[in-house]
Amino acid sequence: MGILDGKKALVVGVASKHSIATGIAQALHEQGAELALTYQNEKLKSRVEGFAESWNSNMVFPCDVSDDQQIAELFESLNEHWGGLDILVHSVGFAPGEELDGDFTDVTSREGFKMAHDISSYSLTALAREARPLMQGRNGSILTMTYVGSQLVLPNYNVMGLAKASLEASVRYLAASMGPEGIRVNAVSAGPIKTLAASGIKSFRRMLAENEKRTPLQRNVTTKEVGNTAAFLTSDMASGITGEVIYVDAGFRNMGMNPIED
Ligand code: NAD
Repeated sequence: MGILDGKKALVVGVASKHSIATGIAQALHEQGAELALTYQNEKLKSRVEGFAESWNSNMVFPCDVSDDQQIAELFESLNEHWGGLDILVHSVGFAPGEELDGDFTDVTSREGFKMAHDISSYSLTALAREARPLMQGRNGSILTMTYVGSQLVLPNYNVMGLAKASLEASVRYLAASMGPEGIRVNAVSAGPIKTLAASGIKSFRRMLAENEKRTPLQRNVTTKEVGNTAAFLTSDMASGITGEVIYVDAGFRNMGMNPIED
């Protein structure tokens, strides 16, 4: 028996086997959830369909989160097929490459700022609004993915740090808004993991190496570890947790210096 038996979960953000969303979907599947997935564009469609098949699902829908029409159609389809929804996982982030390479003051453009905030932060609210009616009376749970670059300055993370700060504030406002309906909203703040999105950050390899040295656990985290925490947070086991950012970062955020002398 799994902690998510009988739950219907939409996971947005599967792009490759390395995606955090893939680790989350795997964990949700192992805990008994029924899955629906989305793909950002036609290029990713067949790959996402392959993942869905491996989790015994044929529920795969297009969804570019910058397009309100596609978001509305996605939830219409879910309502038709399932008549409700228990879990929404938002594991989406984007900023133009030139924003993530160089001095923050110099490289942060108005357009880049808008795009990073639209795709990486606003999209959570847009999806949550459509999920809300489907989650009535079912103790719904919404989860997003963030990074400690919202709180600490990390070289080249730049405008994504601002977007993540906005995303984390959205989690608190959404939790307050939907809490009276029994819907919980939380974020997982993961340590660095090598994925497609992460490879767009110029100093990402250095982030991985620094993290490994500085964490109490002296290593980086895996998508499986993030997935297991996501399964807990979206389950009824976490029924008292909402509006929170839970760190799955091997302890990095508490450390001011490397614990071991070089
Ligand atoms: P990834 O590249 O595997 O996933 C990013 C996803 O965002 C992809 O599925 C992509 O299709 C989707 N996406 C981008 N623009 C979109 C759009 N307009 N519409 C729909 N989908 C869109 O990378 P990931 O690292 O798994 O990223 C997932 C989330 O985890 C992001 O929010 C990221 O910021 C966050 N995160 C990543 C790390 C890390 O080190 N990898 C650490 C903490 C948080």
